[in-house]
Amino acid sequence: MNINIITLFPEIFLALNSGLLGQAIERKDIVINIVNLRDYSMNEYGQVDDKPYGGGEGMVLMAEPLERSIQSIPSDKRGNIVNLSPQGEKLSQSKAQELSKLDNLTIIAGRYEGIDERIINQYVDEEISIGDFVLSGGEFAALTLIDVCARFIPGVIGNNKSVELDSFSAGLLKGPVFTRPEKYNNEPVPEILLSGNHALIQEWKDEQSLLRTLERRPELLNNIKLTKKQKKLLED
Ligand code: SAM
Repeated sequence: MNINIITLFPEIFLALNSGLLGQAIERKDIVINIVNLRDYSMNEYGQVDDKPYGGGEGMVLMAEPLERSIQSIPSDKRGNIVNLSPQGEKLSQSKAQELSKLDNLTIIAGRYEGIDERIINQYVDEEISIGDFVLSGGEFAALTLIDVCARFIPGVIGNNKSVELDSFSAGLLKGPVFTRPEKYNNEPVPEILLSGNHALIQEWKDEQSLLRTLERRPELLNNIKLTKKQKKLLED
């Protein structure tokens, strides 16, 4: 997957070079192309923003530098153009999975009051939000979006099964996990996990996942088709 990022703060994306993502970039499973918006400014002062028409707070990223930075990316490498915005469609596992299938993706990381609406009207395919809160810039949203998408790209996570079993993938939260030691500050690991009985362990894990979802995110249960067994367990 080739990901272009239009940003005023390229250095923030050094964070991509760590962990599994860093390894995927090294293998070229993911190619990151950073476009520095400042390089496409309109004048010798490096101006990329201006006051909003009609007055109001803050500054707005200007259309021309954004257009020039988009056009600096070869058209066959642009793919879908995503503007990150708190007003966009909320990012979800399924949205990330859909985007991860694209060969090319261009992400605009806004700053200040956001980007001139005409770039959204004329160039942007979709707007994505990472949640109902406001960040000071799109860079951290871009890192989040890239990380979430990357997990779905075959080979990025060593064990693809772990992505399938993650919270939200099957509509539920994942249950608790434990590792050594067997007893920590007097709290033992649930006995069933030490039993070696794989069928019973799986049943316990499924139950925990369901119960945790009921306790923490009951609304998620409305979006999945529960089995008879799950319904009975919830009633109990
Ligand atoms: N004034 C805008 C509003 O109220 O909708 C918010 C602008 S915000 C301070 C600056 C930039 O941060 C946005 O252009 C966007 O790129 C990014 N941003 C902020 N919150 C975000 C969120 N929840 N999801 C994605 N991007 C976000």
